[in-house]
Amino acid sequence: MRERRRLLVANWKMSRTPTASALLARAIAALARPADVDVAIAPSFPALGPVAEVLRGTGIALAAQDVHAEREGAFTGEVSAAMLKDLGVSLVLVGHSERRRLRAEREADFAHKMARLAEEGLAPLYCVGETRAERESGRTADVLKLQLEALDAFPEPPPGLILAYEPVWAIGTGLPATPEMAADVHARLREGLAARYGTGFARAARILYGGSVSPASAPGLFANAEVDGGLVGGASLVAGDFGALLAAASPRA
Ligand code: PGA
Repeated sequence: MRERRRLLVANWKMSRTPTASALLARAIAALARPADVDVAIAPSFPALGPVAEVLRGTGIALAAQDVHAEREGAFTGEVSAAMLKDLGVSLVLVGHSERRRLRAEREADFAHKMARLAEEGLAPLYCVGETRAERESGRTADVLKLQLEALDAFPEPPPGLILAYEPVWAIGTGLPATPEMAADVHARLREGLAARYGTGFARAARILYGGSVSPASAPGLFANAEVDGGLVGGASLVAGDFGALLAAASPRA
């Protein structure tokens, strides 16, 4: 028995309308799902309501791709943790590399977002990962250490905290990290959790891998005990591919 249940999170980014999202959610909900794998779907904000309808009673969790750092007020175009909770969301991505890169969001922003989620009882899926230049110049460990500092605002771990290691160079490129690279980074991240919150917490915490997880790469990645599941972009948009990931994620695969 694995100590930690595997989790697959589908990140649909800005790629499906609410109508198409509901159809895709229905196709994913109809897939055979191993009893030992948890699943969450993160559609775009406008699709949360329609996807929530489809997922009701299926055991698949509803996730959001982001949240605003403030509780409420004059923030045109933003979405609060309370709004997400009201829609049935239980898990929220924080710190995705596309937010870091396109919105210049930093660790202090992520700490604020995780604080808002904690207030609403929503779990953060905190994403970290180095760029190709950072890896090639030997700075991977330093970058990850800095990114984990978003947790320093929390003397106790944010409730439900899950980490995702997403090397920026692997996202959407078809070139995933090798299982060895993922294992090495995951072990390092687990040490970072242990240093903050103790070994018991670190041993129980889930660390997902993301970046070109596909039916071809998943078996190797999931053969690795350090990899507790996947944050999946492209391959989560095709129900058949996602079905292959579900099968590969089962510890009995
Ligand atoms: P990808 O995206 O699976 O398409 O590489 C992963 C992500 O950005 O979360």
